[in-house]
Amino acid sequence: MDCIFCEIVAGRKPGKIVYQDEQVTAFWDIHPAAPVHLLIVPNRYIASVNEATAEDAALLGRLFGVARQLAQEQGIHQSGYRLIVNTGPDSGQMIPHLHLHLLGGRHMRYPVG
Ligand SMILES: [Zn+2]
Repeated sequence: MDCIFCEIVAGRKPGKIVYQDEQVTAFWDIHPAAPVHLLIVPNRYIASVNEATAEDAALLGRLFGVARQLAQEQGIHQSGYRLIVNTGPDSGQMIPHLHLHLLGGRHMRYPVG
């Protein structure tokens, strides 16, 4: 299986990695939709929220913790930021490896869609 995010996590493909630990990796989106646009992924392959199980609960929580930390490092935790998790074709999920989009640095429109 050829998953670009697994390759970036493993260091086999280049990515602008801003954070990595034994469970989670974060890197810049190559097509940024905002001044700050980071992707936060579990190192272990999970295709989407649909494939996540109860055993993944702590890992999923960890993604949010890393997102908050990165928002702080990027200086957008007070101005605000948006976290997006797309799931499946209708959502526009491009890469079938669960990921959190962290978007900030500009005013976000609402409602989304
Ligand atoms: Zn992957």
